[in-house]
Amino acid sequence: MNAGTKSLNFDPDALAKKYKLERDKRVRPDGNDQYREVVGEFAYFVEDPYLKEEIERDPLEDEVEVVIIGGGFGGMLAAARLREAGINDFRLIEKGGDFGGTWYWNRYPGASCDIESYVYFPLLEKTGFVPKMKYTNAPETLEYCHRIAEKYQLYENALLQTEVASTDWDETLGRWIVSTNRQDAIKARYVVQSNGPLNRPKLPAIEGINDFKGHTFHTSRWDYGYTGGDSNGGLTHLADKRVAVIGTGATAVQCVPHLGAAAKALYVFQRTPSSIDVRNNQPTDPDWMSSQPTGWQDNRRKNFESIMTGAVVSEDLVADGWTEAFRLLFGSVRDKAPSKAKIAGWAAMGLLNPDFYRLGIKQYLTNKVTEHMDLAKALELADYEKMEKVRARADALVEDETTAEALKPYYRQFCKRPCFHDEYLPTFNRDNVTLVNTDGRGIDQITPRGIVFDGTEYEVDCIIFATGFEVGTDYARRAGYQIYGRGGQSISEKWSNGLSTFHGMHSRGFPNAFFFGPAQSAFTATYTYSLDEQSIHLAHILTNAKKRGATLIEASEVAEKQWVETIIEKSRLTADFQSQCTPGYYNNEGHVNVKPQNSTYGGGPIEFFALMKKWRSNNKLEGLELSQA
Ligand code: NDP
Repeated sequence: MNAGTKSLNFDPDALAKKYKLERDKRVRPDGNDQYREVVGEFAYFVEDPYLKEEIERDPLEDEVEVVIIGGGFGGMLAAARLREAGINDFRLIEKGGDFGGTWYWNRYPGASCDIESYVYFPLLEKTGFVPKMKYTNAPETLEYCHRIAEKYQLYENALLQTEVASTDWDETLGRWIVSTNRQDAIKARYVVQSNGPLNRPKLPAIEGINDFKGHTFHTSRWDYGYTGGDSNGGLTHLADKRVAVIGTGATAVQCVPHLGAAAKALYVFQRTPSSIDVRNNQPTDPDWMSSQPTGWQDNRRKNFESIMTGAVVSEDLVADGWTEAFRLLFGSVRDKAPSKAKIAGWAAMGLLNPDFYRLGIKQYLTNKVTEHMDLAKALELADYEKMEKVRARADALVEDETTAEALKPYYRQFCKRPCFHDEYLPTFNRDNVTLVNTDGRGIDQITPRGIVFDGTEYEVDCIIFATGFEVGTDYARRAGYQIYGRGGQSISEKWSNGLSTFHGMHSRGFPNAFFFGPAQSAFTATYTYSLDEQSIHLAHILTNAKKRGATLIEASEVAEKQWVETIIEKSRLTADFQSQCTPGYYNNEGHVNVKPQNSTYGGGPIEFFALMKKWRSNNKLEGLELSQA
């Protein structure tokens, strides 16, 4: 044990070694190339299983002021904020059969969100909706998407079941031409690209993947015709089926309990265990919601993200498993630090900003941490303490010792998406459920009959891919369409050597195009928060451009260059932390900072939102070149 620690019930040095060992055996040289794109013979993995009726309509060749691509929360928020700004001439294009985006596609049994619903559901104060529980589920979220669409009358502006094929800038017209799979050619002055960062399912590039003769699907296209049941479970058709799930990320954690309850036999193929913390869902107290003052939701989500990533807060409003590591730390620094609020800010910043540690902030000190230990160490200890509690849950809830050990995550809490579930771990106590622990290696092969690992073939009737979504691959590949800007240059060409944007939203050569998403922008645990801020930003720009009589908006060369430099500079702040993490999509599969400009804003979302707010308050649209198309 370190000389600097006392009364710890774990050995930090031993844990540090174990974390490194577990990480090192998982980093693969092929990074993102270990996955296969769902095209060609794999295209059936992305067909829409939820369509009730196919819409028939003639192709459109009309013109609108704004085309918004994507009917998820991003597209809906953009539309809502445009309506609020009095901009009504827009059209939403969505490939699914309805609004919802992520929540349209991800209807797997048990699908739910473990960001508190009071911060996750945007526009709650405007819609007056009261989520039933602290943590909502997929059916209620989809219902809420419909509520937003109805409140802001989005159905009348929507082209559903329509997939964008390309967006082309027409220099002569000064318009985008938005082409679709229904032969539409819609002219638009502005295009909002809100196609979702986790939209394109990915499959492991495993030998024999298409040889399997049984049934197969990806979790984001759940085949209820095969399994029976619905998002609430009841998968009765599986009673005589042997089922394999590949992957143990946030999605698998939610659907595995339902599969375990229904299938004759379930094999869960694990490469890296998730961190499974307490969920403890609770019904909403309607009196509490109705008694909240105006602006409560914005305060609450800001408070939550502040604790997670770095600003000063005086209390933890959400107070759940996401923020617990900080409470552990605050508990340990109470009374002795310069000021509790100040420490809270520093501490939170330290999580995603290891450089901050080096500023020499010292002595945050307690009965657990001695006087000479710096904040970095204190944070690391709080994280170990938190993860020891998570690992202890596996021992407490899983009867078989080997299985319990295999289910323990050995990495820092935010290296991967933390999960919160009360039924996942006990599922492994069922006689019909087997954890196949591949110990970081992944499965070896898929055969016509099943899955091979370590010389054993597991024969199954169905393989379910819970293997997640593409992150970090080419933008157009993930979006599913190409964007051609000035001179016919594609966005893939422009970004082939790394992202280049102004504020993550504009890219020179692509005038009047607005990009939504975390790239060179904010990365939040509450993704809808970030989308809402982007929508507010978009509405501000369009309103102000209009006031000035401008119809052409483009990032200046200098502003874009400076923003890329800012992103690169700030990416250093998170690089150390990320490079010590087990691989996953949070850290580019362990290949950290290969192209630092591809990062999100390293100063954290609260700093980013403040920066954008300040930029807007100037009312000058600095960094944007305005003219008339
Ligand atoms: P993830 O990318 O998180 O998980 C993919 C899983 O597949 C990982 O366990 C991965 O292992 C595994 N895998 C990949 N290749 C192989 C292989 N060759 N052999 C065995 N296993 C393999 O995807 P999810 O769909 O689970 O989640 C995506 C994101 O969606 C989450 O991070 C979260 O942001 C969001 N989400 C949120 C939910 C919530 O609010 N509760 C619920 C569901 C999703 P490895 O870890 O080793 O790479």
